[in-house]
Order: sequence, then structure tokens, then C-alpha cells
Amino acid sequence: MHTPFPPRYRHRTDQQLSHDLAVTENPRNRGQSNGGRNKRGLIQTGRLWTPGRTLWVSFLGTPDRKLKMSIFELACQWVDLSDANLTLDLSEDDDKHAQIRILTGKHLPHNESDIGTDALAYEDDTMSLNLIPGDETFESTVLHEFGHALGFEHEHLHPDASIPWNEPLLIEAHKRAAGWSEQDVREQYLDKRPDNELIKTQYDPLSIMHYPVPAWMTLDNSEVGQNTELSAKDIELMRLAYPHD
Ligand SMILES: [Zn+2]
Repeated sequence: MHTPFPPRYRHRTDQQLSHDLAVTENPRNRGQSNGGRNKRGLIQTGRLWTPGRTLWVSFLGTPDRKLKMSIFELACQWVDLSDANLTLDLSEDDDKHAQIRILTGKHLPHNESDIGTDALAYEDDTMSLNLIPGDETFESTVLHEFGHALGFEHEHLHPDASIPWNEPLLIEAHKRAAGWSEQDVREQYLDKRPDNELIKTQYDPLSIMHYPVPAWMTLDNSEVGQNTELSAKDIELMRLAYPHD
């Protein structure tokens, strides 16, 4: 039953603030939902950046250059492979005006990132990464966290995903081994995202934004492997999110 516990996204931002920041940055984030709220009362909103803009990336605390470049070059795959209308650029260290501010170090408890424009809510770090090049999941984790930073959510929460989760076991295992609350597990694994038709691609089990699903997590022992690179649909999604007009 051993599995490394996966990277998370952050949800520290108040829903209303998150919505306001998102639609101010990019009015398209409003989506086409019914009045902006779904049946659970949550505001439905995208958190994509404005197409065509530059996102500055800054590292906090001056980590070594090799680590910075390894992370930044992986992040650039999102743009380079998709030819999306967005630029990632490396700023000086500790630049609080950079949109993506990365804290690194083995001591950090989680690999996690704000989703897209939520990064505008605060001035401290927007992403934390505790891996270094050579770690088994370094590449997949950096690509995944930058997917969040670019505004993408977990693929296993796609409205059309139909994973037969063993919910009690999933909750218990994460509680015991990683200290996650039931709410953490529901948010990261189980609560499907609203179908707000902001950008639409098919459910993609090969997405870098999909958690690995080992057989013990499902009622029928079905599995999804650990994805290690951007899938064809990840690249398509990036192009749809940041179009050239
Ligand atoms: Zn994640």
C-alpha cells in the first residue's frame, strides 16, 4: 500500500478574492456558467493569465543556479511544446513583483502551487518544491506544479473522470501517512471540478495533471500510472488556454 503522496494544489485564497483577481486579470475567466455559482454555492471561475503576457519567475532565498535552471527549463516546456501565447521569463532572486515565486529546499513539507491568478493574492511564495534534480519524481513534479501555476487543475477531477475510488481507504491512508484531513483528500482527489466550459478537452488519464492511481485506491483495482511528461492533450489545453487571438 506504499505510494509516495502526491503534490498538492493550494486553496488558501478566499473564493471571492480568487474570483475577483481572476476576472480582473482575464475576463474570460468568468466562463459561461449560470450566474457564476454552481449548485454547491462555490463560485465557478477560471484562473488563467491574460494570453500574451509575460509571467516572471523568481526564486526566493537564492538557491543554486543549477537547481534554478533545471526547474525553469522544465517549466518552459509548457510554452515551448505548445507554442502558446505566453512568455515565461526568469527574474532576479527574491523579486516580490514576479508572478511566480518559488521556495525550494528539502525541508519543505509539500510540493504545491497556487493555481494561476491566485498567485496575485499575496507577496510570499506561490510555489514550494522540495525535490532536486536526480530525485525520481523531480521532472513530473515540476511540470505538474507549473501546470497549476499556469491555471490548470487536477485532471482526475475532470467532470468526465469516472475513477471508482475506494474513498474510506483513500482518506484513512492519507490521514495516517501524510497527515491529510478528509477535506484535503476530498479537495485533491474526489471533488470534481465544475463543468464551466471555459476550456474544454476530453478527460485525459495521460495528463501530467493526473495523480497516479495505484490499484489499492480503487474498488475494481483499476490503475492509472505515474505520468512523467506533458501529454498531447496537456499541450492542446495550453494552446487553448493561451491562444494567439
Ligand atoms: Zn497538484
